[in-house]
Amino acid sequence: MKSRTKVVVIGGGIAGCSTLYHLTQEGWSDVVLVERNELTSGTTWHSAAQVTNFGMNQTMVGLKSHSINLYKELSEDPEYPINYHHGDGGIRLANTEAQMDGYRHFASMAKGMDVNFEVIDANECAKRHPLISKNNLLGGLWDPSDGDIDPAQLCQALARRARKAGAEVYRNTPVTALTQRSDDTWTVHTEHGDIDCDIIVNACGYRVNEVGSMMGVHHPVTSMEHQYFLTEDIPEIKSAGHRMPLLRCPISDYYCRQEKNGLLLGFYEQDCKTWGMDGIDPNFVNALCPDDLDRVTDVLEGAFDRMPALMEAGIHTVVNGPITYTIDGAPLVGAIPGKQNAFCIIGLRAGLGEGGGHGWLLAQQIVHGEACYDTWCIDPRRFAGHTNVELTALKAIEDYQNEFRFHFPHEHRPAGRNAKTTPLTPIFAEQGAEFTVVNGWERVEYIKPTKDFKTTLGFKFDEAFDLIAREVKNVQENVGLCEVNGFNRIEITGSDRHNFLDRIFCGNIKKQTGKVGLGYFLNHHGMLKGEATIANLPQSDRGPARVWYGSAAASEYHDMDWLRQHLNPVEDVQLRSLTNDLTILVLAGPNARKVLSACSRGDWSKDAFPWLSLRECFIGIAPATVMGVSFSGELAYEIHIPNASLYAAYLAIQKAGIEFDIKLFGARAVDTMRLEKGFLHWKADILTEFDPFETGLNKFVNMNKNEFIGKEALKSRQSEKCLNKLVSLEIDTKDAPAHGGATVSIDNKVVGTITSGDWGHRINKNIAYAFIKSEYSTIGTETFVDILGEKISAKIIESCPYDPNFDIIKS
Ligand SMILES: Cc1cc2nc3c(=O)[nH]c(=O)nc-3n(C[C@H](O)[C@H](O)[C@H](O)COP(=O)(O)OP(=O)(O)OC[C@H]3O[C@@H](n4cnc5c(N)ncnc54)[C@H](O)[C@@H]3O)c2cc1C
Repeated sequence: MKSRTKVVVIGGGIAGCSTLYHLTQEGWSDVVLVERNELTSGTTWHSAAQVTNFGMNQTMVGLKSHSINLYKELSEDPEYPINYHHGDGGIRLANTEAQMDGYRHFASMAKGMDVNFEVIDANECAKRHPLISKNNLLGGLWDPSDGDIDPAQLCQALARRARKAGAEVYRNTPVTALTQRSDDTWTVHTEHGDIDCDIIVNACGYRVNEVGSMMGVHHPVTSMEHQYFLTEDIPEIKSAGHRMPLLRCPISDYYCRQEKNGLLLGFYEQDCKTWGMDGIDPNFVNALCPDDLDRVTDVLEGAFDRMPALMEAGIHTVVNGPITYTIDGAPLVGAIPGKQNAFCIIGLRAGLGEGGGHGWLLAQQIVHGEACYDTWCIDPRRFAGHTNVELTALKAIEDYQNEFRFHFPHEHRPAGRNAKTTPLTPIFAEQGAEFTVVNGWERVEYIKPTKDFKTTLGFKFDEAFDLIAREVKNVQENVGLCEVNGFNRIEITGSDRHNFLDRIFCGNIKKQTGKVGLGYFLNHHGMLKGEATIANLPQSDRGPARVWYGSAAASEYHDMDWLRQHLNPVEDVQLRSLTNDLTILVLAGPNARKVLSACSRGDWSKDAFPWLSLRECFIGIAPATVMGVSFSGELAYEIHIPNASLYAAYLAIQKAGIEFDIKLFGARAVDTMRLEKGFLHWKADILTEFDPFETGLNKFVNMNKNEFIGKEALKSRQSEKCLNKLVSLEIDTKDAPAHGGATVSIDNKVVGTITSGDWGHRINKNIAYAFIKSEYSTIGTETFVDILGEKISAKIIESCPYDPNFDIIKS
């Protein structure tokens, strides 16, 4: 066994084998995989091993396409061919129009990744899958490339190719401890000796948290028991003359594929069970949980109704094994938050289908610092510290119960709510607030007119449309109050704080005390990594002169890790998270200044406190820091308040606002208003796949600065032409917004992809952002946006259709 290597991948299931193989493909051959038993002895060996292309965003579709292409190539390798039934096809069934709309949207989204799904009706479903009935069926989504693979052969093939490229695999070598040295490299302790390495990768399947705890980390992953059975031969399959397509059923919660001349049927029962929460028997190797078909009776009935031939088929094998779920259903593939040189590829619940692609994207991240797609949807840093064992288990159960029921826009499921609240949450609930969840925080989405008010889940404009319009109108004409809890806030102190930020941000940063500015930072490839406000606080009785770095709630771990990684030990800079300590109340609208003046001493006039100013003050008796910034495009103030005095501040604002009939507004109103203003959302419109020029952020880049991260790479990108452009579109329909991922086309050719869209209530137009190939990005260009299966005409417009000169914000 080597005593030193570059990377140690821990775990020899599909996740570990794929990572190892792809590291060698990215050019790193001094890499090692250690496996406690034999390869594939965790979950992988007994997987149903279906391989599908379906994903709810382009990154997932892209990585699955990579799996499919790779598996095809492996299956055709004459030296070591493996069994892969590629292209049996598969149908996701639907019995509601809303589900069909979802499929239409996902088909449009996949088209942008060169993947052609088809939305088919019930007759066509039955034609393509001769065993199914059309009862209670509207149609489905057809994925032509669906199939299944032999999981053990797949892993052996990947390990074999990795070995050929120089990697080493040590079987029967359990990792027993991990030590991180002062230079951030690691020692991996195993039962057969130590291996020093630069980087470790946790690919330990259901034992993820055994290895996580060796490095002081809890990963939000829970295992669930999951069952399928195999039937005896079914005569209709034998005589069909072709293999049966795969089935996924959100109506009765099962999946199905052909196995020999019978079927394999897997279940997602409501009466489901977590597994291994109180520890896992060390001897659970190549093992299964006891069969328990009683739990799946309801699901079975649904499957019998759909496929009557099943009722006659004998069951010859039942498989019940642990399968991992994360807190939001998507895997965790990337850097481990708070750790250096540590990565994970865990929480894979469809690891055979996705594993090829996840290993590919992870290897790129390890070797190049970033992958070819924006990997935020699988980034382990997308949650913060609230993701404990109990919450993860509740969300895993909920996700398992809804396996094939995708999330609709604005759907926030009920399990594990109220993980993060402020003193105002119950007060807003009392006032009829509907809440959305942002990184665990309960945030007001809008105010319901009655207690029982509910919207219909779907992809069209919903019943909240008029409520949002009223909230926007109140902000535009009067004054509104909105709580933005969970906003990521990092306090940066030390005399070198501005030099440090200058190195990180690609433009000029505001340095004057009492001023606020917006900035963007890039990765080493010159691509957009993040956005933050930089607010300069004075030296005062509240602390030394300092910067408050503010960014999206979801970016809490992501941004902190990035800043920490770029600290220079010789510089005087300290970072401290204030995210859980402070909350923002936003006062917005033409009467915002009057309300602020009535509850806070001092001169708040335009001259004394212009746009982009900052002041430490009191709201009533609550200490506060007020910033003159606005995401809505109206005159607005962000009031930052310690949570301990948030209620006092709220009461003072409410009292001052009575005279103006101040009203609450929520996140959905904010989102439509920011679209009208040309403001961007991190990880909707700000993506690592595009550089700041493509994203239209030229004025936030200063190529004449001495240095900033990504400058050289951006310079060489600049010498080429911008490939894409972020544009605003006006869309000619009142039925539905354009959803992120929808395809934009001209003359039937795909030229771009929507990033976000909504109705702009102040301009009374359906608007959206899209990245478009730059040759088509001229203002006035007519395009078509694919909205729920229809091509709707859409014109490229100026990026800030509401108050383009910013007169209102500055008023
Ligand atoms: C019944 C069932 C059906 C499924 N059907 C499908 C399907 O149709 N399609 C699909 O895509 N997915 C399916 N899945 C899911 C899929 O099988 C998993 O996502 C995948 O196998 C997970 O692979 P992994 O490498 O992450 O974990 P594992 O296969 O569990 O591998 C982890 C490895 O890490 C090793 N390890 C753990 N601790 C240590 C240590 N301390 N030191 C060294 N090594 C260690 C383990 O021994 C193990 O070999 C199914 C799962 C189940 C249970």
